Amino acid sequence: MLEKMEGKLNTEAVAEQFELLSMNAERVQKETLKKILEENGETEYLRKWGLNGKTDTNSYKACVPIVTHKDLEPYIQQIADGENTSILTGKPISTISLSSGTTQGKPKYVPFNDALIESTMQMYKTSYAFRNREYPIENGKALQFIYGSKEFKTKGGLSAGTATTNVYRDVEFKKTMKAMQTPCCSPDEVIFGDNFHQSLYCHLLCGLIFRDDIQVVSSTFAHSIVQAFRAFEHVWPELVFDIREGALSSRITSKPIRSAMARVLTKPDHELADLIRDKCLGLSNWYGLIPEMFPNTKYVYGIMTGSMEHYCNKLRHYAGGLPLVSADYGSSEGWIGANVNPLLPPEMVTYVVLPNIAYFEFMPLRDGVEVSGEPVGLTEVEVGEEYEVIVTNFAGLYRYRLGDMVKVKGFHNSTPELQYVCRKNLLLNINIDKNTEKDLQLAVEAAAKVLAEEKMEVVDFTSCVDLSTEPGRYVVFWEISGKAKDEVLEECCNCLDRSFVDAGYVGSRKVNAIGALELRVLKGGTFHKVMDHYVGLGAAVSQFKTPRCVGKMNNKVMQILASNVVKCYFSTAY
Ligand code: AMP
Repeated sequence: MLEKMEGKLNTEAVAEQFELLSMNAERVQKETLKKILEENGETEYLRKWGLNGKTDTNSYKACVPIVTHKDLEPYIQQIADGENTSILTGKPISTISLSSGTTQGKPKYVPFNDALIESTMQMYKTSYAFRNREYPIENGKALQFIYGSKEFKTKGGLSAGTATTNVYRDVEFKKTMKAMQTPCCSPDEVIFGDNFHQSLYCHLLCGLIFRDDIQVVSSTFAHSIVQAFRAFEHVWPELVFDIREGALSSRITSKPIRSAMARVLTKPDHELADLIRDKCLGLSNWYGLIPEMFPNTKYVYGIMTGSMEHYCNKLRHYAGGLPLVSADYGSSEGWIGANVNPLLPPEMVTYVVLPNIAYFEFMPLRDGVEVSGEPVGLTEVEVGEEYEVIVTNFAGLYRYRLGDMVKVKGFHNSTPELQYVCRKNLLLNINIDKNTEKDLQLAVEAAAKVLAEEKMEVVDFTSCVDLSTEPGRYVVFWEISGKAKDEVLEECCNCLDRSFVDAGYVGSRKVNAIGALELRVLKGGTFHKVMDHYVGLGAAVSQFKTPRCVGKMNNKVMQILASNVVKCYFSTAY
């Protein structure tokens, strides 16, 4: 069956292929593992574990241990250093991905190869096939807030960049976007510009110039869309000026971007400038900004679950009545599941695991803690239960703990539908209390309602545990959109404290085994500084996720937060 017809993606063929895979998930998983082990059986790593050419599930589980990134780091480092002969993969690895590293405080190296490009395209096409049934796209363009990271060579000469950068650079990415009728409206020089602020400005400008063609507004993670339109609120007069003059603002100093933009911004356009200006002046608090500026947009698309859920409110505001569709679930280590139910609001989205892109195991968890130490297979998971995802991929990761906690919400044919819960190791914990990234997000959401009554919002947030005093306490950091009165923030602080409802926390608070929660309000722009710090370490804006809990390993981020505190409040809720 032809996937592409006349350069256009045959979405029905893609959907059919997906249905077939999902109907035979168990068999496909066995075949996938067999293929991985056949390709890589002779590697130093698999030989070390005595697999001796066996490719069946039982032998694999009996011989090869479950590992974390730390266990594989020496092997990956050897590859990065140039000793690249059959260490983790049969075929040499030529590219290294840098994961965003927001959990550990520094980017991690992960092997990358063509198999990951292939599975990325499969994932994109699969969810698109289902999206397109509901919101068909015809001959459009996408305003994609995507940014390549700096690329560098490792000691051994391998190119290293973030996984998204490796994907955006690949010819298959462009071909797929074209086949999906939504090529990016910005030139490559803008995507790969070396200054993120300049790239963002030009993405916006390209979007406005091609405003009638834009049918999708997207980014990898929803954070980038919100960030872009927050910037728009400030720079729109300059964008209008550039369109009116037909000349690019002098704020853009990057030569490659300037020459690429000269091909887009070719002549003065008074009519468009007036139109955009009038629309900006006519909007009330920027509600519905996206459909006003880009009237043919069908939906807004990007990852909106997990740590991105916080941005959904703001995104809804900008999107007016447009649907928000969450993008798929994956990581630098590979993709996991596709969103094939585009009508579900982001808060309810599940991801259907594609059984041929990797071999998956699931470690049962209860309240974030391992129950048995024995993982189960993809088709053995149970609805309603929580698990940590363990991946064996085509790029040299074997029984690798991803560190993500997911919940099984149901099955699509025989493959599970997963709800993303949170990063497993991001816990606020002092003694018997235990709060996940998700618990924190819910607490912030509740307390933000108090702020919303004053027409203000939480721009971004993070937290830490402060053990420097006795007893220790939770500290929540907020950047807010205006200047709130002390009484309001005191109430927010109390509300945060009351919103951590796990019995361990509540009990400890009552007997003062955990101290009063502290809310530290930060200067505007603090989270930009946090992001700039990560980007400086090689992370890409496209993959940036604000760390929701800052541990000891994140010293530099802690310093940025500490030096930007405006005011502190202590809870009196207990
Ligand atoms: P990175 O490899 O740095 O891009 O980060 C990958 C991590 O991002 C995953 O392990 C998840 O924790 C998170 N992530 C990716 N996709 C989603 C999604 N659809 N929903 C929630 N979190 C996600």
